[in-house]
Amino acid sequence: MVATTMEQLVSLCKRRGFIFQNADIYGGMQGVYDYGPLGVELKNNLKAAWWRAMVYERDDVEGLDSAILTNRKVLHYSGHEDTFSDPMVDCKKCKGRFRADQIGGKCPVCGSTDLTEPRPFNLMFKTQVGPVESDENIAYLRPETAQAIFTQFKNVVDSTSRKLPFGIAQIGKTFRNEITPRNFIFRVREFEQAELEFFVNPGTDIDWHEKWKETRIQWWLDQGLKMEHINIYKTPDDDLAHYAKACYDIEYQFPHGMEELEGIANRRDYDLGNHTKNQEEFTLEAHCHENKESTTKLCIQDDSGKWVIPFVIEPSMGIDRGVLAVMTEAYEEEDLGNGNIRTVLKLKKHLAPIKVAIIPLKKNNEQIMAKCHELKKQLMKLGIGRVALENTGNIGKAYRRHDEVGTPLCLTVDFETIEQQPESVTIRDRDTMEQIRVNTADLADYLRNYFL
Ligand code: ATP
Repeated sequence: MVATTMEQLVSLCKRRGFIFQNADIYGGMQGVYDYGPLGVELKNNLKAAWWRAMVYERDDVEGLDSAILTNRKVLHYSGHEDTFSDPMVDCKKCKGRFRADQIGGKCPVCGSTDLTEPRPFNLMFKTQVGPVESDENIAYLRPETAQAIFTQFKNVVDSTSRKLPFGIAQIGKTFRNEITPRNFIFRVREFEQAELEFFVNPGTDIDWHEKWKETRIQWWLDQGLKMEHINIYKTPDDDLAHYAKACYDIEYQFPHGMEELEGIANRRDYDLGNHTKNQEEFTLEAHCHENKESTTKLCIQDDSGKWVIPFVIEPSMGIDRGVLAVMTEAYEEEDLGNGNIRTVLKLKKHLAPIKVAIIPLKKNNEQIMAKCHELKKQLMKLGIGRVALENTGNIGKAYRRHDEVGTPLCLTVDFETIEQQPESVTIRDRDTMEQIRVNTADLADYLRNYFL
């Protein structure tokens, strides 16, 4: 079973401290959320899993962490200033503004069909750099992480001596002034993306596009999603953006429907072509924006020594949508048979916010508490992630709480621990609820085997 309604997840997220509405005490801000004590851990773990698979485990990808504030010229030549917009309609009755493609010709607030013609609305957040408000000082909060990968292409190539094929990966915040943010953290105005721009020789792009589709599907399965909840949507040729040669969407069965989790596009030479100096020296396949301001040729030598502008395969995913997907998949309400329902988050252990909870059987017993503190210190050194000392409520409540937040193992220090030799603790498994006794001398090995 998975979460079947968004309400189940929203409620768990607030109750247990995964995700809160931003500025909650002032009534909130639409489409903006904050990650709480457990949400930040889950999100960091998902990002680390992506980075590990995309950068560390490969030999053909480098990382980047670029600025959020973006020079206007970058987003001018990328095409975002002109085209990064959704067609909008205004309701003439209640004055609401909505995305034309999402409302089926009827105002979702008042039901009126008296709407304006669709007009483009730019989704970028504009700001100004420095004290003077003027056209020259306009900058944007980046609407995707990709553009800095293109503008830094030459610096990365020169500093790493990379040859084709190779990629540059980046995870970071992006901002879009979505007109209808909705479905919790699915469509928000401030979010994180994990993007790879993989540069290949023209002619090898179709193969690489297929390879990346397979690699990315496998990665999502490794994060716990089931294939039966995934759909691969291939954009029909006549729906493709003019620069794209092909595009796959990895869609997931969210509680509100089957929707895009990640896009994997073959963008040809459009992006580097847009930003390069001396465009006329290259035979660009995509229709690029004329550029007389770039100071650098964004090209690389192929095996024959010829300078080429590589094609780009771009797998681009939303971290927040990823968090929502793994939570949806992991959520279970288990009927324990005796009228009791157990809510449990069966997250993959590498994603679990807390890896081990150390629980004292009796909070006010000094010896038990001292042993808990000692074990916590010792286990933190293993590098398995967060080990938390749990000292709220009774043992039953502690188990329930850790089931709900997905803690794979609960380790209980009881009277036997402090009274009998060899010293031992109980370990309870989240999924089976089975308990075993492990000698504390063997704990480190046990946990290393389990988590690493
Ligand atoms: P959509 O069609 O849903 O608006 P998109 O096709 O514009 O998305 P891309 O520009 O391809 O999205 O961005 C890549 C990824 O970034 C998406 O697959 C999605 O996971 C994530 N993403 C895009 N917009 C948002 C948003 N407003 N909130 C959360 N994640 C987003």
